[in-house]
Amino acid sequence: MNCKEAQELFGLLRDLPEQHPQRLMLEQHLLGCESCAGEYQQWEECLDMLQYIPIEVTEEQAEAVNRRVMDRIYAESPWLAPDVKRGVTRRIRRRLVFWAASFLAIFVISFGFLLMDRFTPDQESAEPMTGILPTAVVVAGSESDTYEEFSITLTSVSRGIVEPFAVPMSPAYPQYWMYLSMGGMLLALFSWKGLRRTKR
Ligand SMILES: [Zn+2]
Repeated sequence: MNCKEAQELFGLLRDLPEQHPQRLMLEQHLLGCESCAGEYQQWEECLDMLQYIPIEVTEEQAEAVNRRVMDRIYAESPWLAPDVKRGVTRRIRRRLVFWAASFLAIFVISFGFLLMDRFTPDQESAEPMTGILPTAVVVAGSESDTYEEFSITLTSVSRGIVEPFAVPMSPAYPQYWMYLSMGGMLLALFSWKGLRRTKR
């Protein structure tokens, strides 16, 4: 092995296994050749110095590089940007929660009204169903008290007469509101599920 070959192996020496023939030859050459031994020593010192030069990458720098790369990606394909997507889904989700909550409130309130209707004496609940009795009373009754009371029911009854088939679905009935709110809650639930599916 000549000096040139030996100097080309300097860089490999540390990585070669101890019993590697090239390593053994180089070591033998270094023992015999003073100039190469000197150069090798310098080389090793250089390597050691390089090892201890602190190359610190602060988190800010790393973050900046990261952001620049991601910005370029998002500029090329904006639909991947998490801010846009997350913001939109969060807004939609908040709105959905609001809707579900309000429908739940309507459901609970109408259920309460239904219970009240069931447990109060049948006077009031019977009135909108028949419709004939109060009008008869209104015609017959001349007292101001009963007249006022029945005039309120008369409006709903008259609506019932105009649209006979719409009577059971009139908003005056708690069942109507219960069905409506149930439908609303189901709608909110389905759209919530759809939202979660699109996110994946
Ligand atoms: Zn040499």
